[in-house]
Amino acid sequence: MVPSFWQSRLSEIETGVRQVVKGQTSVLTTSAGGRSIYLVEYGEREDFGRRANYSSACGAGSADHYARKGPDAKPVLLIVGGVHGGELEGISAVMNLIRLLETGTDYRGVRHDYVLERAGRFRLLLLPCMNPDGRARLPVDSLLDVPYEEFVYYMQGSWKDGSLCRWPDCKAVHPIKEASGFLGSYFNDDGINLMHDNFFAPMARETAALLALSEREAVDFAVQLHGGADTEVHFPAIHYLPQAVKERQMAFNLRMALACTARGIPFTVVDQVVVDGAKSPYPSFNLTSAIHHTCGGMSMTFESNMGLDSTGVKLTPDQVLDSHFVLFEEMFRTFEAR
Ligand SMILES: [Zn+2]
Repeated sequence: MVPSFWQSRLSEIETGVRQVVKGQTSVLTTSAGGRSIYLVEYGEREDFGRRANYSSACGAGSADHYARKGPDAKPVLLIVGGVHGGELEGISAVMNLIRLLETGTDYRGVRHDYVLERAGRFRLLLLPCMNPDGRARLPVDSLLDVPYEEFVYYMQGSWKDGSLCRWPDCKAVHPIKEASGFLGSYFNDDGINLMHDNFFAPMARETAALLALSEREAVDFAVQLHGGADTEVHFPAIHYLPQAVKERQMAFNLRMALACTARGIPFTVVDQVVVDGAKSPYPSFNLTSAIHHTCGGMSMTFESNMGLDSTGVKLTPDQVLDSHFVLFEEMFRTFEAR
């Protein structure tokens, strides 16, 4: 049974964002399939005195030319759910965060006082579901207790001959639409996996809109919420980032490890300070890398556990949601000491 706090249907997202009164709801863009992608904002947008885009500012030797942020500037946090539309944990988590900010509790009635009390110190950009096309294609409302093979079918789909399209072969054809039998929920209606778009000339308007958002907002910290199947909660390493950013992300990673362990949530520490190309000659420049290069901010991929019926790790639905609230709280704490 799907817990009532598991808010991930497109209709639930629409209802939830329309009830927002403390924040502001808008449509960031529409998907390839013509579905609305909602953005909920909290906190005023500040003028950072932009004189140059981020690349040019770096060329001139200071990010201040792009965004001059004084000590009083509110950190800008971007939280993106549902880049892979079938990864419902993050969608549900963003909806629960919005619910908390609007009513004082999440959909379970649980308070998160630290997050609630400090939310006003940030500019929050919340995107519950970046890929509604993929979400619409998923025929179930939860992956909890779903057997592994069925999960693979829902996420990556099948090839034309009916065989399962597995990870990472699902990335070997892109866009995948013409090669697929059942188009998995990874992809938008054009068969594009937003994680691996062409970032210098985006194929998907969803990608273009997300990068434009991080660029114009001068985001300090972007987190994408993904579903990491039956693994422990973790952050995969992100390639093509400056060393200093990798080190800050490693520090955050360790902070999360402590916080999750303290809550009894299984967490794997993956090294973030990687040498690009050391493990594979083809380190991927993905959406997470790209977001950093629009704005200079930290940019990480959070991989949740999905509660599958599988041989790996299985968190309870409450633990899955709690792990996201640990993430939100630690994002806030990271900027508290600044
Ligand atoms: Zn994903």
